[in-house]
Amino acid sequence: MKKELMKDNFYEAVNGEWLEKAVIPGDQPQISAFLELHLEIEELLMDLASKWSKDQTGLNNHLLKFVKLHEMTKDFETRDKLGSTPLEPVIKRIENLKSLKDLEKNAQEFMLDGIDIPFGYHVMQDFMNSNNQVLYFGATDLFLPDTSYYHNPETKEQLIGLFKMTTMQVLQLYGLDPEKVNELLEKALAFDELLVPVTKSSVEKADYVSMYNLISKAELIGKTKTFNLSKLANNLVGTEVETLIVTNPAFIDKFEEIINEENFELIKSWMIVSNILGFASLLSEPLRVASGAFMRALSGTAEPQAQEKFAFYQAYNRLSQAIGLYYGETYFGPKAKKDVEEMVYEVINVYKERLHNNTWLDDATKEKAIVKLNKISVHIGYPEELPPTYNLYEVGSYAEGSNLVLESIKWSRLNVEENFSKYNKEPNRNLWAMPASMVNAYYMPTNNQIVFPAAILQKPYYSIDQSRSANYGGIGAVIAHEISHAFDNNGAKFDEFGSLNNWWTEKDLATFKEKSKAMIDLFDGVETGNGPCNGELTVSENIADSGGIRSALEASKKEKDHNYEEFFINWARVWRMKASPQFLQLLLTVDVHGPAVLRANMQLSNLPEFQDFYKLTPEDKMYLAKDKMVEIW
Ligand SMILES: [Zn+2]
Repeated sequence: MKKELMKDNFYEAVNGEWLEKAVIPGDQPQISAFLELHLEIEELLMDLASKWSKDQTGLNNHLLKFVKLHEMTKDFETRDKLGSTPLEPVIKRIENLKSLKDLEKNAQEFMLDGIDIPFGYHVMQDFMNSNNQVLYFGATDLFLPDTSYYHNPETKEQLIGLFKMTTMQVLQLYGLDPEKVNELLEKALAFDELLVPVTKSSVEKADYVSMYNLISKAELIGKTKTFNLSKLANNLVGTEVETLIVTNPAFIDKFEEIINEENFELIKSWMIVSNILGFASLLSEPLRVASGAFMRALSGTAEPQAQEKFAFYQAYNRLSQAIGLYYGETYFGPKAKKDVEEMVYEVINVYKERLHNNTWLDDATKEKAIVKLNKISVHIGYPEELPPTYNLYEVGSYAEGSNLVLESIKWSRLNVEENFSKYNKEPNRNLWAMPASMVNAYYMPTNNQIVFPAAILQKPYYSIDQSRSANYGGIGAVIAHEISHAFDNNGAKFDEFGSLNNWWTEKDLATFKEKSKAMIDLFDGVETGNGPCNGELTVSENIADSGGIRSALEASKKEKDHNYEEFFINWARVWRMKASPQFLQLLLTVDVHGPAVLRANMQLSNLPEFQDFYKLTPEDKMYLAKDKMVEIW
């Protein structure tokens, strides 16, 4: 502890020694409390994987599939011998296209096989009626991670240059001759450029309710005469689609200007480049290393992942929920589950109390908020069900004539077909969006559901060896953070059933918007050493953090042995992070979570109890005048 810093930079006071000593792993852009825990789990899972590859006694069907796939991903001798050949049939299929009409004919098969085309369909829960699932239409992402990079000429030149250089190497390793590579890249980038004005920025995407734009079949047909999107939709879901949701209306409005016969060579080149980049990590060692070079450079990661680790993740990522389930059942267990469950309901009760005592909401809105809170479904540890495609997936082997590209296509077909089969059906709310072995947690607004995977229910977030106050500063705040997402600027638009539905009185909604604006202003432009924080991009997470820390602290205060300092210290500890400047800059541009140092310090400055406990005065840098504090939940 650097006690002398507590009043000026609490984050540094708590984490200073750690920050000095922490080493960023060569294959990572950062190290953090999250990542330290992740690396421990990774080691455990990789040990299990190597044990399983020698002895499969007692493994269930899904784990046996993982073992078989892992045999393929780690066999780099065969991967190197095969070189680019597994991907050649895919690229041939694109090269054989002669016109946009050809692409139209093949679009459905491409989508099923997981071959990138510049736009596509996906079935998801209907925001307006969360008991149903509907069709969403969206366009591809850009080559650079955010539109802002294209708007600054200097950054654009630098990053497009980097993209060109690293991609050129991938295309040459794939086996294309240098002249052809140049031509392909120029055309692919020209197409990418056409998409920039109709692509949402990270800030625009953070307002995720704006993704929901209903369009009728007639409107769709009227705006996209150059490509029969309506027929594609009907074929994919096997029935006549009368309305669908467009995630990005600007793209549909300009569709005919971008997707037309004149631009076909640009589209085709974009598809060749995108798909070689997308599939390259399934090929030889040189190709998998080269295909990660752009992201490594962009994030300031020193070196590629070791081959062994990479091979593990290629198998793990496909069947992660099955391994997560094994992990949860083996290392988490019913006792810890019960303990955390109790804590979740304690936090929910405190939240309810706080809503009751809330001073800025009308009774009508309060009541609705409490109804929503009571309806939140809580999922802890590991899921009861696995994705249905796990049962259907039959893993091949090199001896049986398969390879990793064929496995990827097989897997894609299962999942894409499964996705389209959900059209107009009720969702299965027992399925989780992340494996139990992932150090994370989430709130799903369309299910009004919070999920805490087993992996995050450990030190420093939670431990029976830690004081209750420390646990409340860690996992307690995470729990209350996820609950607060039900009431952040996005979540507050959904009702207790997860449907878009305004349950606010006019006056309260106006106050909430004002308060959200105050939260934007509190963080906006605050310097972090690598650039300013973007208040608008991070507002939902900052509202959740603020509600999280306040409610967790309230719950902690109810404990007999409550200790402010232990609470504050663990709060600051879980946000510790050391990263390359490039990575921090990237996060400032694209991440809806604020920079770690601000998540720790600003939320404490914004807390009256912290100010009182440390007797802060305006001379202290952690001081924020009480009338400047922003309290929402
Ligand atoms: Zn969050």
